[in-house]
Amino acid sequence: MAPVSPHARHDIVIVGGGLVGASLAIALERTGLDVALVEATAGDLPPVFDERNLSFADATVNALAALGVLPKLVAPGAPIRRIHVSRRGDFGRVWLDAADYGREAFGQVVVARDFGHALEARLRELPRLARYRPARFVGVDHGDDALRVRVADEAGERAVAARLLVGADGTRSHVRTALGIDADEHDYAQSLLVARLAAARDPDGTAYERFGEHGPIALLPRADRHFGAVMGVAAEEADAFVALDDDAFLEQFQQRFGWRAGRFIRVGPRSRYPAISLRARSVSTTRAVLVGNAAQTLHPIGAQGFNLGLRDALTLAELVARQPEDPGAGDLLAAYTKLRGEDRERTLAFSDGLARITSNPAGLLRPLRSAALLALDAAPSLQSALAGGAMGYRGEVPALCRAG
Ligand SMILES: Cc1cc2nc3c(=O)[nH]c(=O)nc-3n(C[C@H](O)[C@H](O)[C@H](O)COP(=O)(O)OP(=O)(O)OC[C@H]3O[C@@H](n4cnc5c(N)ncnc54)[C@H](O)[C@@H]3O)c2cc1C
Repeated sequence: MAPVSPHARHDIVIVGGGLVGASLAIALERTGLDVALVEATAGDLPPVFDERNLSFADATVNALAALGVLPKLVAPGAPIRRIHVSRRGDFGRVWLDAADYGREAFGQVVVARDFGHALEARLRELPRLARYRPARFVGVDHGDDALRVRVADEAGERAVAARLLVGADGTRSHVRTALGIDADEHDYAQSLLVARLAAARDPDGTAYERFGEHGPIALLPRADRHFGAVMGVAAEEADAFVALDDDAFLEQFQQRFGWRAGRFIRVGPRSRYPAISLRARSVSTTRAVLVGNAAQTLHPIGAQGFNLGLRDALTLAELVARQPEDPGAGDLLAAYTKLRGEDRERTLAFSDGLARITSNPAGLLRPLRSAALLALDAAPSLQSALAGGAMGYRGEVPALCRAG
């Protein structure tokens, strides 16, 4: 095992500098602790900061503003003022209007790459943060009052000591595996195609969720007069869809989505993602926790993954701020596990329900779904629950989410 040099001791080592790991490093700054961020990829930004459109819930917008990240955005986010949910061939539909809830918007749409640059700009302002990059987490050994976290870079492998290890290394988390935490995974047998689209009519602040027999479609209003589209297609059809030229793709998209956002006239390059969900059986063990996609990965159609992961990070940062003398203490990690339980379960169930039920073509389910959507449109209490979830206020939320 590599020796621990006197310079390589940290209070907290975060593995993964993606959306959640970077946000956590920023949220921990005010604790005054010695924090290190380990990121495997070289270059400007980790590849996860790509062209995907991120819908930030209101709670997320509040927290990112309070953390000083949103002011770093070069291009402003686009507000989501209304949400329209419908199913192709069915009767029901739901309209939610932020004004009915006394809000200007349910949240904002930000392009992941722009968000990555804003996070990076904020990370560079943190005087105490140690960064290991590019460096890969390769394993962990237990010591008396700290873990020995093994990382590899071009100089070879070394160990750094951590009183708390945070696995923020995404769906295929090596930290989770090294800690011996099992995870349950579901494959929706769908691929998600992401593209930037222009319509003859500019976006008006409405976000659309449309469910068809082939899979779900989400259309988000962007600030650049385009829509960010996510279209679910059966996994075996994905190659054919990716091969379509622009006109053929637009025609398919228009047919599946319909005309409520107008005629689609241009489309950019398409990228493709698998649709899976994953749930770690535990989110903490001795001196270690999981956050974000490492703890749970959601079907992207509900646009909840980062919003949920950020609430993991903020909850952890709040607990550490209250008890900075030992960030890896057993009672702190037990409190983290307990506090994250309800939000995690409910958000996983919500996203899974959207992805499964609405894409099931069984004829018998159809009237039930229509009835459910109609009931939702008519019942203010159900609508409030849906709107509360869309804004990120599900269960007990971290204090920073309520700032603003
Ligand atoms: C198409 C699509 C659309 C989405 N839209 C939304 C949305 O609208 N709203 C929303 O809230 N969420 C959305 N999501 C989900 C969101 O992207 C994820 O929830 C988020 O990326 C999770 O962040 P994370 O930091 O946990 O993991 P990641 O972002 O995957 O980051 C993990 C990081 O760990 C690093 N890493 C991996 N292994 C190692 C190692 N061994 N050592 C060191 N570093 C390592 C990786 O390089 C990476 O930088 C969407 C997802 C997709 C696919």
